[in-house]
Amino acid sequence: MSVDISLKGQFSKRLLSWYDRQARPLPWRETRDPYKIWVSEVMLQQTQVRTVEAYYGRFIGRFPSVEALARATPDEVMKQWEGLGYCGRARHLHQAAREVVERFGDRLPDTLEDLISLPGIGRYTAGAILSIAFGKPEAVLDGNVIRVLSRIFHVTDDVRKSSTEKALWSLTDSLLPKRRIREYNQALMELGALVCRVRNPACSECPVSRMCEAKRLSIQRELPVKSPRKPVPHYQVTAGVIRRGDRLLITRRPPKGLLGGLWEFPGGKQEPGEKLEDCLKREIREELGINVEVGVHLTSVEHAYTHFRITLHAFECRYRGDRIRLIGADAYRWILPRELDRFALPAADHKIIALLKSRKYGGME
Ligand code: SF4
Repeated sequence: MSVDISLKGQFSKRLLSWYDRQARPLPWRETRDPYKIWVSEVMLQQTQVRTVEAYYGRFIGRFPSVEALARATPDEVMKQWEGLGYCGRARHLHQAAREVVERFGDRLPDTLEDLISLPGIGRYTAGAILSIAFGKPEAVLDGNVIRVLSRIFHVTDDVRKSSTEKALWSLTDSLLPKRRIREYNQALMELGALVCRVRNPACSECPVSRMCEAKRLSIQRELPVKSPRKPVPHYQVTAGVIRRGDRLLITRRPPKGLLGGLWEFPGGKQEPGEKLEDCLKREIREELGINVEVGVHLTSVEHAYTHFRITLHAFECRYRGDRIRLIGADAYRWILPRELDRFALPAADHKIIALLKSRKYGGME
């Protein structure tokens, strides 16, 4: 996939002039602060711009600098991130902020090597920070750019293969113009988001349509080629609403792993042949070293994560007074139902709480 030099000049010229007219006024486009651009890039991974807009301002308001984020507790960070999903991103962002303060004296580094040495920063995020914040000649390759390039340059190999990804990185690198890298990279991503859309590419509005092979061959919708993903597994999971007087027990998940650092009703995944009630008793014993009596089934909710789905079954449980030991959980609290809002919880637990509130269960409102 080599690019002819005259085509390269025309490509960036057309793209930039389109971007100058059409770029959306997004809050993170009003700054060159590397920290703020980093936060926006992390939030935008697998999340829609409209959703990120709501979170970005609040997050930056609460943690206006890398030092402020580094000083925060994991619970404070998780609370601000709650509802945005993929909370491993928040955990990495927080760890990386602490590393920046320790290793680079409060300023985000400005080299690819240093940036990708930080938790949660891969080549794409590093390229975006370096080009957008520092104006350095680094390329980007996200889902939008993959789609645009595959269509224009007629890339018919499976883009999920690492060899194709490597070739696309070389292609995007070779297309970088000499000037206005900051705007050029954003223009390329904006074209994918607004015009060269997944299902419905608006080729008649596209500034580079004359160079597009997929359009010439009328195969826009067939590109990029992606091998099918494996079927998504579906797990049955239990959660115990354990009561002691007017208080409820919540536990915090260990910092690493899925939903790390979030608070939840304790419980876990059903094993083959196990009854839901037995699963819940076993999980609570393994996590907290206590035996509970499992009572009525309260509700069941569905939730989809990136690589699997769950049905979460909530049961009321009676606490028998045993001493709690933190075996599989990181912390626990007995809280009043009205205090639930202060803790960052997974989306599936929020669904349970919403249902319990709608029934005014146990004084919840
Ligand atoms: S012409 Fe159509 S398919 Fe080609 S880059 Fe533009 S929008 Fe995408």
